[in-house]
Amino acid sequence: MEHKNDKKLLSWREAWKTNTKLLQLLRRQRPRLLALRITKDIWGALTPYVGIYLSALIIEELSGSRDPDTLLRLVLATLLSAALISLAGAILDRTLAVENADWYYYCRKLLGDKMLDMDFCIMDETRTQQELSTILQNQNGGGWGMGRGLDLIDSLFSSLFTLLGGLALTVTLFTSRVPESAENMTFLNSPLFLLPILAAMLAVTWLAPMLSNKSESYYALNADAHNLGNRLFGHFGFLGYFNDRGVDMRIYRQDIVCEKYNSDKTSTFSSKGPFAKLGRGPMGMYAAASAAVSGILTGAIYVFVCLKAWAGAFGIGMMTQYIGSITRFATGLSSLISNAGMIRINSTFVKQIFDFLEKPNVMYQGSLTTEKRNDRQYEVEFRDVSFRYPGAAQSAEHSEQQYALRHVNIKFKVGQRLAVVGPNGSGKTTFIKLLCRLYDPTEGAILLNGFDIRKYNYREYLSIFSVVFQDFALADLPLGENVAASSAYDRALVSSCLEKAGFSERLKELPRGLDTYLHRTLDEDGITLSGGEQQKVALARALYKDSPFIVLDEPTAALDPIAEAEIYSKFNDIIEDKTAIYISHRLSSCKFCDEILVFDKGNIVQKGSHASLVADSDGKYHALWYAQAQYYDRQEQEEIL
Ligand code: ADP
Repeated sequence: MEHKNDKKLLSWREAWKTNTKLLQLLRRQRPRLLALRITKDIWGALTPYVGIYLSALIIEELSGSRDPDTLLRLVLATLLSAALISLAGAILDRTLAVENADWYYYCRKLLGDKMLDMDFCIMDETRTQQELSTILQNQNGGGWGMGRGLDLIDSLFSSLFTLLGGLALTVTLFTSRVPESAENMTFLNSPLFLLPILAAMLAVTWLAPMLSNKSESYYALNADAHNLGNRLFGHFGFLGYFNDRGVDMRIYRQDIVCEKYNSDKTSTFSSKGPFAKLGRGPMGMYAAASAAVSGILTGAIYVFVCLKAWAGAFGIGMMTQYIGSITRFATGLSSLISNAGMIRINSTFVKQIFDFLEKPNVMYQGSLTTEKRNDRQYEVEFRDVSFRYPGAAQSAEHSEQQYALRHVNIKFKVGQRLAVVGPNGSGKTTFIKLLCRLYDPTEGAILLNGFDIRKYNYREYLSIFSVVFQDFALADLPLGENVAASSAYDRALVSSCLEKAGFSERLKELPRGLDTYLHRTLDEDGITLSGGEQQKVALARALYKDSPFIVLDEPTAALDPIAEAEIYSKFNDIIEDKTAIYISHRLSSCKFCDEILVFDKGNIVQKGSHASLVADSDGKYHALWYAQAQYYDRQEQEEIL
């Protein structure tokens, strides 16, 4: 599990474009936050100069005429301004904290909304999942992304204002002249002398952040290794947290085998790992050099200002002002450069997020309406449909094997009961996924009432299907809302659907009935349902939707034999006039179906009624049937037949 360093920094141009986009997003979505941040930047950058300016006046007065009234006025002004500045700053901070939290939430939700908005086939691709995981890793592990982006732009502005403020109060340092009486010190007045000072200042101010960015950039350039390290640590370091792993951990002592990841000294963040090496090597050297260079600059400023004061260019009060404002000017300049560098580094990660958010959907969206027909006269046809999952390899030699479905032809009318059987991996679930247009066929077409399903409005098309997939998900919501998939619902109807699905006994036991939360995530009084009970709720949800098509993928796999028998005994009542498509491994439960499709290696190899298929002794169904039937006794077999 090693990662090469394959990150490249964006060019300055691209970084600029990416950050402009980020600011535009902020302006559109959260204009108040933008305005507040700018106000805070100006406020934070300029207000320190009030203190610097007033203290200089006080010292000047103390070292000059020392008039008590003037001093009192100055001290009061200093105290009052400091109090007002702090008060306004605190109010701004509080308001900003709320807005910042909202922005953080917005950025996270943006990714979730994008995932929901994606064509299912894109969302389901491994690449998409990896991209999302990388973005989240970068955010949680390295702190890179939109939140950081905004903070950095913010700091950039604030350092710009700091720099300008410092500059304004420093100009007179260079214009105030050492008096001629100072003789040999008058060289400080020479413009030729000023230039190298300025140049040295700029060079040093430039160098410090450059070196510090160089050090920081190792994190970004090694983001993949950083992410991998975080993932391993996040997983193996916290195995004890997860109660669903608790049993296996104990029985198989997985803690021992997993511990090797925690105790590996050469792993990403350990003492002999790559980051420790970088820290002792170039990263540490650059960081130390940067700190040293900043120290030298501050020293140089002190020497220059002190020399001028000593030579009599200005008084001791002004010296305080110059030292204060130049130091701030230097800090401003240095953080301006440092921020610019960090913005460039962070842009790579922001661009990654924008690229993800801008991933286009590929499925054609038609506008035909399906109309909720009262007669429920719908006819579906698979016309020579073949399908290959997007991630499947496309090399010519293996292409045939990569098809999950091959030349499927089938037509079914409303009201039919259709069973789909076949070995694992034969394409049954894929067949249902194509029917629900989670994917489009690679070849051929699926028609609804004679029109390609791509031509229908997708939401409307989906509304004619109720599906219970094997890996269905129930929400952390009250039972009733789960069944109805809505907050406002018909309670009697929900109860009757739950009853049809065999959940009525359990419902009676629930103290808060339909208002009982499923799972304990959000409510301590919530209930944890068993797999079979969950399946019943999922079935009730499909019934409540009351769509013309009901599709059940192994609907009774988790049910006990009694519950299963109960459901089958009233299957016709449950399904009513709907078209039922029903995937099952238990062939005995398919015999009530009008037609059975037998899938094998992506093809429909047989179709017909149970009796005709069992009779075909060369067929797949016959083999599957007798493989299972050996577990029933003869009488049961005859009953089933
Ligand atoms: P069944 O429901 O009959 O067990 P599936 O329809 O789930 O079979 O799978 C058919 C084939 O498609 C299998 O070979 C499976 O590995 C492959 N397959 C299923 N889902 C995916 C997917 N999301 N990406 C790539 N291949 C898949």
